[in-house]
Amino acid sequence: MPSDKAGIIPRLRPRSAFPTQPVAPLNERPMSTALRPSACPGLLRIVPALDGGICRIKLNGGSISAAQAEAVASAAERFAGGVIEATNRANLQIRGIGSEQTALIDSLLAAGLGPRTAAGDDVRNLMLSPSAGIDRQMLLDTRPLAEQILTTLQSHERFHQLSAKFAVQLDGGEILAMLEHPHDLWLSAVEQEGECVLAFGLAGCPTQTPSGAVRLEDGHSLVIAVLELFLDLARPDQTRMRHLLAEYPVAGFVAQVAERVPLLSIVSGSRDTNSSVLHSRVLHIGAHPQRESGRVYVGATPPLGRLDPAMLRGAAQLARERGDGSLRFTPWQSLLLPAIHERDAAEVIHSLENLRLRCSADDALAHLIACTGSAGCGKGQSDTKGDALQLAALLQRHGQILNVHLSGCARSCAAAHITPVTLLAVSPGHYDLYFRDAAQPGFGALHARNLTIEAVATLLDARSRSPLDA
Ligand code: SF4
Repeated sequence: MPSDKAGIIPRLRPRSAFPTQPVAPLNERPMSTALRPSACPGLLRIVPALDGGICRIKLNGGSISAAQAEAVASAAERFAGGVIEATNRANLQIRGIGSEQTALIDSLLAAGLGPRTAAGDDVRNLMLSPSAGIDRQMLLDTRPLAEQILTTLQSHERFHQLSAKFAVQLDGGEILAMLEHPHDLWLSAVEQEGECVLAFGLAGCPTQTPSGAVRLEDGHSLVIAVLELFLDLARPDQTRMRHLLAEYPVAGFVAQVAERVPLLSIVSGSRDTNSSVLHSRVLHIGAHPQRESGRVYVGATPPLGRLDPAMLRGAAQLARERGDGSLRFTPWQSLLLPAIHERDAAEVIHSLENLRLRCSADDALAHLIACTGSAGCGKGQSDTKGDALQLAALLQRHGQILNVHLSGCARSCAAAHITPVTLLAVSPGHYDLYFRDAAQPGFGALHARNLTIEAVATLLDARSRSPLDA
């Protein structure tokens, strides 16, 4: 485990090098008059942070070509501080952007990473499995339907009124799937009476009881119907489906959807939470067989979700030379190289590790996530990324492989789900410790307050002698 923190996590530029005011949208690419305005970064909306501007690049189903990945690496190098982040929605963001914002945006648009319409950037929030179309257990290749949904989200003007956080999940029954992130609308392929259909639910995850189901050919119409009905019923301050459903009965909403799209009665159960969730935590790291015989995908985790341009360029080169020329980012803030010949897997892993990407599920650091923290965020109570590196080294020494989330404040930017262990910063180097507990809201059960990282490692080590949900 390297001890030099700066050597493992790309450095940030000093704060003084960057503008501190929000960047107005480009005049020549006007955004729509948003009913639910967003402060989130987008490709055309660079948002300031302590370490400079942030540009978020939304990827179609987490997928990016090798050439596009190289364009992102170059943009981060030329126009920013060289820090690239893999996000928990399988997108990328560039941090530390200085004054050359227009040039950075233009270079990303030239690489084909922009939305179909300027106003459509915020709403292209559709999560797929990182192994969509190649997963050995999938019931459905979700990519064609996803393409249709993404096109409609961007081109149907009314949908630009949706909040930038409003998100849809399309699950094809893959073994590798993030089933813990709540989505405003989720669709999940299930077998029902010998037919593959799409179960769906509102404001939740595919592990919950569905609200209904549709035939595959009605999947696109269902998404349109749900989103239009949401916009019909929700007030502007109700930005998410859960806000609307806090006041409006789910059954009433679904009944109105049924007037627009033929619904099936659902007899199948929801996705099995435990097996899918536990499998997926290791299936996104290392080499795993694809549906196509003789081919594997190789998963690699950049330490704490951060890449530098050399890492991204190196991974892109491997994708081009040994894979299908594409990379896929995952909601675990890692990346996959698909379509690697199984005889090349060991060499590809070796090359990725030389780039300082983590390819072993036995690596403690590969299971830790941390938000930007005080090094780049004004709300951060501690340097979460630096503390996470220290914790990873201690856990590795104790042989502890745990899914731990370090959060600089209660906003929980690094995780859209609740991890088994959460450390909430309360002051520099000090954290409150929570264990996930479905019966408790927020991060779960508060176990101890104001612990140092050493004390956290000691406590987790002692607790490992008793069963822990990790
Ligand atoms: S969780 Fe808090 S400290 Fe961390 S990045 Fe988000 S706002 Fe900043």
